[in-house]
Amino acid sequence: MIIENLNISSFTDCLDKSRTLILPFGSVEEHGTHLPIGTDTIHVYELAMLASRLYPVFVAPPVWYGLCRSTSQHAGTLGIKGSTLRALVIDIVVAAYSQGFRNFVLISGHAGGTHMAFVADAGEELLQRFSDVKIAVLTVLDLVAKIADGLVETDGDSHAGEVETSLMLYLRPDFVRKGGVKEFPSFPKHILTRNKLRYWPGGVWGDPEKASIEKGNQILQKEAEALVVLIRKLEQFEG
Ligand SMILES: [Zn+2]
Repeated sequence: MIIENLNISSFTDCLDKSRTLILPFGSVEEHGTHLPIGTDTIHVYELAMLASRLYPVFVAPPVWYGLCRSTSQHAGTLGIKGSTLRALVIDIVVAAYSQGFRNFVLISGHAGGTHMAFVADAGEELLQRFSDVKIAVLTVLDLVAKIADGLVETDGDSHAGEVETSLMLYLRPDFVRKGGVKEFPSFPKHILTRNKLRYWPGGVWGDPEKASIEKGNQILQKEAEALVVLIRKLEQFEG
């Protein structure tokens, strides 16, 4: 039920099985010197497709671009404004609603707080606009937090570290380079920084050296299972 692969007939047939759509959001964002710029989108789209193999649910083509704040000055990052992202969420959900979808899982491979605030804000407007929609908003890191026990060694690993390096070793080994260096940046509290590279030179937040292919495999499997649990909960949700 991957929308980009369906045709008129198969799309209509699949709608008899499910009215739930996973809408994956990613980013075009640096992921250190060792991971591809598309890491967030590759991760979230593969996760959504795996979840749809475990449970009948549609998967929309991913939105590649996201709002990137702290990595905006690193080489390779191509961000969009929050207002653009918000408008994209609304336009895509409105189009999908008119096709018959009623349950929407807005899941992002990019976990930036400002990025997610715009996605959630769009979700709130859609709840007001349509009385019969159900919407979940989450990031892949929310799923990782649920499954990390005994699997992820690094506390606070969030960007191009143990988790994402493991996933890319599993999903796109040809695009992973050696030499990802452990980094835990520290931005000043409350003060917006003009020179972001000064506080975060390497573009890694976590420890890539703890990564392995097997961890990547397990993380993706467990994330998909946790996502299916959430989808079932959303479909049964009342109120
Ligand atoms: Zn990432």
